[in-house]
Amino acid sequence: MNALTQVLCQGFYIGKKKMAKIGFIGVGNMGGGMAINLLKAGHAVKVFDLSEAAVAVCVAEGATAAASASDAATDVGVVVTMLPKGKHVRSVYLGDEGVLNAANEGTLFIDCSTIDVATTREVAKVAQSKGMMIVDAPVSGGVGGANAGTLTFMVGGLKGAFEAALPILQAMGTNIVHTGGAGTGQAAKICNNMILGISMIGVCEAFVLAEKLGLEHQTMFDIVSTASGQCWSLTSYCPVPGPVPASPANNGYKPGFSAQNMLKDLHLSQDAADGFGASTELGKAAMEMYEAYVGGEGEEADFSGIVNMIRKK
Ligand code: NAD
Repeated sequence: MNALTQVLCQGFYIGKKKMAKIGFIGVGNMGGGMAINLLKAGHAVKVFDLSEAAVAVCVAEGATAAASASDAATDVGVVVTMLPKGKHVRSVYLGDEGVLNAANEGTLFIDCSTIDVATTREVAKVAQSKGMMIVDAPVSGGVGGANAGTLTFMVGGLKGAFEAALPILQAMGTNIVHTGGAGTGQAAKICNNMILGISMIGVCEAFVLAEKLGLEHQTMFDIVSTASGQCWSLTSYCPVPGPVPASPANNGYKPGFSAQNMLKDLHLSQDAADGFGASTELGKAAMEMYEAYVGGEGEEADFSGIVNMIRKK
């Protein structure tokens, strides 16, 4: 029996198509939309979250409510987790009450949370020792991508586990890349977000300088978006109101991608850089600037709102 057949053996048929029975743990801002897309694809989904309101949203779309994380992992072929931090992943997966003890041997685990590489590798090791398949599959694309089913997945793990995860991930995303062994999905994610944090600060500083030099926001945008300074932070997520209507700058800097989440990811990249001996001086400076922003006016704001802190300096 290959890995994919193993995952689907807990499943059921819709016409000739075999669907999976899936447990989904952590149905917050991101996980909610992802679980609903699995339902829309025809899979049977049992959800668990500490927030009853978050569970209710999925149940209204056809999910079943599980009584606990271990209940969500019982008698399913696949378990997806979308949790805030490494400590949450550790508590849900490991220990006597953990999902790795509740699931049937051969269950496929897909952890989509953005967490540290060390926890990911530790959990993967324990899962494999219990005869489970596991991938780390952090995402890029935000709440919009989670709702639309257009996420990018960076997937670390053994080839067989990746192949088994692929049809499940295709119901939630459009760009799915196998990055290598366990933890490399997280590595790709934190390196990407370190670039994002640095580039957002660069774009914000340039807009503040442009303001002081008497250059209009729109003129600056029109030039730079087609010149060598162009990047995603400018063209898709412009930190000043006007040029990109969908960016949080036009909505009072309501997240979006929160400054707190950016700070979390910059801590992850900095911890990894320190642990593995990489020089990331701009990453460190970006982390310190987001620490100041989250500790002050940016506690509840989108990460692009850091332009307001820079302007006041
Ligand atoms: P969120 O806080 O909205 O959702 C997390 C959910 O997990 C919450 O509903 C919470 O109640 C639940 N939870 C926490 N501990 C639990 C436990 N022990 N058992 C069951 N449920 C538990 O966060 P989010 O924005 O959905 O982010 C989730 C992950 O996705 C994070 O790692 C984040 O870094 C990552 N991410 C977020 C975005 C974004 O734009 N929000 C983008 C990419 C990646």
